[in-house]
Formats: sequence, C-alpha cells, structure tokens
Amino acid sequence: MVEQWTISEIRSKLLKGAISAKELIQELLSYIENHNSYINAYLTITAESALKEAEEFDNNRKLLEEKPLGGVPIAIKDCLCTRFIRTTCASKILENFVPPYDATCVEKLRKAGAIIVGKTNMDEFAMGSTTEHSAFGPTRNPWDTDRVPGGSSGGSAAAVASGMAPCALGTDTGGSIRLPSFYCGVLGLKPTYGRVSRYGLIAFASSLDQAGPIARTVEDLAILAEVISGYDPKDTTSVKKEVPRFSEILGTPVKGIRIGIPKEYFQHSIDPEIERAVEESIKVFRTLGVDFVEVSLPHTDYGVAAYYIIAPAEASSNLARYDGVKYGFRSPTEKPDLMEMYLNTRAKGFGAEVKRRIMLGTYALSAGYYDAYYIKASKVRRLIQQDFLKAFEKCDALITPVAPLQPFKIGEKLEDPLALYLVDVFTLPASLAGIPGMSVPCGLSSRGLPVGFQLLGKYFDEEILFRLAYAYHREIAYSPQIAILS
Ligand code: GLN
Repeated sequence: MVEQWTISEIRSKLLKGAISAKELIQELLSYIENHNSYINAYLTITAESALKEAEEFDNNRKLLEEKPLGGVPIAIKDCLCTRFIRTTCASKILENFVPPYDATCVEKLRKAGAIIVGKTNMDEFAMGSTTEHSAFGPTRNPWDTDRVPGGSSGGSAAAVASGMAPCALGTDTGGSIRLPSFYCGVLGLKPTYGRVSRYGLIAFASSLDQAGPIARTVEDLAILAEVISGYDPKDTTSVKKEVPRFSEILGTPVKGIRIGIPKEYFQHSIDPEIERAVEESIKVFRTLGVDFVEVSLPHTDYGVAAYYIIAPAEASSNLARYDGVKYGFRSPTEKPDLMEMYLNTRAKGFGAEVKRRIMLGTYALSAGYYDAYYIKASKVRRLIQQDFLKAFEKCDALITPVAPLQPFKIGEKLEDPLALYLVDVFTLPASLAGIPGMSVPCGLSSRGLPVGFQLLGKYFDEEILFRLAYAYHREIAYSPQIAILS
C-alpha cells in the first residue's frame, strides 16, 4: 500500500515505527519493478543508495525525527543533476554523464531527508510536450497506456500518478510540469521564475527554466515547494525573498479572493470536457465565496510564436557545449579530425527534435534575422507580461484550462511538430511572463482520463495558488486515486 501514501502518512508511519525506512523503500522498489517496465517512468532506479540511506534512518532515530522529509522517497527528473547518479536529460549525448554535484533543489531535498529512488524519463533536454522525444523510449500515461503522459516531465508525473513515487521534481520551461501533471491527474507547480535555484538544472532556455514539485495532494506539493525554494548565491537569477510556509497557510479561507477568467483562453477549440471541468470548478469556487471577473490577455495568441523563437534561441546557445570534448558522448572518427568529430558527435548524439530546435534557434539568432525574430519575440514577451500585470490589477489569480486537448495517442502527433507546439498554448504565456502556475486535478473525464484546471498567480504569490487549490479539493472531498495499471 506504500504506493498510496502521502508524505505525511509516510512520515507518521515511520515515526510511529509502523514500518521501517528500509521496508518502505523495499516495498516501493518492488512496486516500481512490477510497473516500470511498461510505463517507462524511470530511466535509472537508485535501489542501492536508497536502501543505504533508509538504513541510516533506521539506525538513527534522531535523524529521522529531525528531518522534515526523513525517509520520504522522491523521484527526480533526469535533467536535474544528482551527485554520483547518472543524469542523462534523456539524451544519448549524456547517456553516461554522472555529475559530481547535486542541483541546489536536489541538495535541499536531501538535506531535508528525502531519499532519491530514481531519475525520471523526459523529452530529450526537456524539449517536448509528450515524453515521446526521449532517447530511451516514451513514457506511457498510466491512465491509458496507449496515450502520452504529457511532457516534458512525463516520467515524474507518471511515476507519481501510478504510485511509483509519492512525489517528484520536474522542470517547466513552457509547461513541462503543468502539462504532464494535468495529463496524469496529479498536482504540479511551476514556481515564479527566480523562486527556485536553477543551479544544477541542465539548461534548456535559461530565461524560462524553473524546477518545481509534482505530488498527489496539495499538502505534499506545499511541503516540497517550501523545501526547494529560496535564494541561492550559485544562481544569479534566484531571488532574495523570504519563502512563506506554504504548508501552514493552506486552510485559510478563500472568501473574497477575486479570480480572473481570461476570455482569450476560452476562444480556442477546447475539448468540451476540459472546458466543462473549468466551469464546474468555477462553480465550486463560487460556493466558497470566491468572486469572478472577466479579464483580457490580448496577446495570448502570440505566445506560441514568441516562445518557439526565444526558447530555441537560448537552447541553440546552451547546447553548444555538447561537442564531445569536455564531457558526454564522443563519436569515433575515421581519421583524427576535430571538425569531423564535432559533426559526428552532434549528429549522432542529439535526437531529431533537439536538432530541430538548434536549427530554429541558430536561424533566429543569425545576422540579418536577429531583429526580425529574436528581438521581435522579446517585444511580444514584454507585451504578454504587461497583459498579466494589467489583469492582476483587477484580480488576485487567474483560472484557465491547462491544455486544449485530453491526452492523445502515442505517435498521433509525432510527425507534426506544429500540432505539438500548439498543445502549449495555455501554459507558455505564464512562462514567458515568469509568473507562477499550478495544475490542479478535478477527476476523470468520460474516457477515464484526468481533467483539471490551471491557476496562475502574481509574481511570488504561490501562496494564493496553494490556498485556492486546497480549498477546492477540500470542498469537492477530493481523494487522489492511483492510476489503475492494466
Ligand atoms: N513543450 C514546450 C517545449 O517543447 C515546453 C517544454 C518545457 O517546459 N520544458 O519546449
């Protein structure tokens, strides 16, 4: 039953001695062993180190008591560096990369006592919305294994949804925490840009990347957010701001909070069940005394175009370091020729989507095109940010769908990159603006697939997202289900 426990249940069982940390990890590992082969959520399972750390807790009760996450298993997306644990970014080019250091968010989790049970699958270098662009095969949606789990943090979301981990870390550059959380029926938070250190997060698009938690309950999400947030001198874009105790403000009443409904998010052809889920949740919020107001975010439609210039531009620069020289994969060459080595290494090491992004980005940044593409996209980004600032003059938070479509079949859109990019239409604007966003599950659609909604907040106001999500789940008596694995 370990697959169903929340963080606080795990903690209370460990503290009461109802189960030892080692037994708990053993049970979880055997559950993972039974299910990972067909879900493919984990790329690496760290059984040995997890059991060793669990034993340390069993041998030292004081340690277990002191650490807020003492003995709690967690899964980490494979673009976050983990000391002495292989970190691949789901790419051939980093297939054997073992970092000598932890990402700051990982280090903070370890300090709090969390036990890493494995590294999760993702779209290569986090470029994608389905986890199909992994060099190690797609992750399957545990609710329907023919369908995508969303991406790029699909492994983390699928692991949490299927009970292979109580909680996980993902990263979100344009929706990669929110979309897979939505598609897998779990909670996911993309914090404000600057809230969580990016040190050790392998860069995709540095001005957008943020790490964040994925969990099955609002409480668990809040506990993790609290642990990983905060200023870090190793990341100059992290912000010196006090981190609120998210887990302690959850029960505060939401009466009088004003939520904006951005009309542009409802003009697209959205799956009717997704639209209904948002409408139903609005009704629930109304009964809690939340007020609603219509707002306009007029530049929403330009988000996809702006993002798919800015993110590839940054990626083309960030990924220049994978050249076969310093680390990672190096392709053998017939004769000792540096250029041939570079070309072969990058041709063989990167997958098709990553190459597409590098080409898009290089083109957008090249002389003669820079102003027309990159500068223009940056201006649009500013307009999108201003839209949000203006909307937040009238309200405290926003409610929107997470994506226009329910999880689709694996392979269905793989040949059509533009169709895949359009799935991000509702998550990209918040990333471009840098505001926090949360995916909140509501239940299942008539097809048995998860539905939910997205809450967006003002800069550094994750607190309101937590309060709203908590009040909503309490009101509908939400109880997380483990995806039935068939
Ligand atoms: N789907 C978007 C992309 O492909 C966002 C990915 C992400 O947030 N890492 O770039």
